[in-house]
Amino acid sequence: MKIDAIQADITTLEVDAIVNAANRSLMGGGGVDGAIHRAAGYELKEACRTLGGCETGDAKLTEGFKLPARYVIHAVGPVWNGGHRGEAEKLAGCYRRALELADSVSARSIAFPSISTGIYRFPIERAAEIAVKTVEETLPSTGIDAVTFCCFSEGDLAVFDALLKR
Ligand code: ADP
Repeated sequence: MKIDAIQADITTLEVDAIVNAANRSLMGGGGVDGAIHRAAGYELKEACRTLGGCETGDAKLTEGFKLPARYVIHAVGPVWNGGHRGEAEKLAGCYRRALELADSVSARSIAFPSISTGIYRFPIERAAEIAVKTVEETLPSTGIDAVTFCCFSEGDLAVFDALLKR
């Protein structure tokens, strides 16, 4: 069981599943969502259209189409609203559900972006702590053996590295 953090564009990773930081419509957006849709091609949007959206804190699975990853798991993180509106529990739900879905298709490797910490403004230190804790707790009940936190910035990578080296 391996958990690590790297700085990369998640659309380039050769893993079984990548996670998308999607919105409730699942019809594409900015940030990592836009990058994933561009790289996967129009078929991803067609696949997402059939899913009927997704609740905050939950996730849904599609194929990866033109991506090197076989699957995309679309997780909907919470918008940060000060921290008293269930944001932490909803963010944990994204990581838990994504791992469960990956396991349900026998994925062995998965990469996560830093969900909710871009346009949704969740503070990176708190979000990373929830991400690492939830993955550490959930992983043993799955068959997944490699988890990568794929950071876009050097600053985010430093935050995840510090937590993983504790
Ligand atoms: P959210 O709306 O959940 O906050 P964003 O896409 O705005 O989602 O941001 C989530 C994180 O994904 C941010 O840290 C952002 O810098 C990062 N990000 C943006 N593009 C990519 C990419 N191609 N690969 C990995 N991470 C990315």
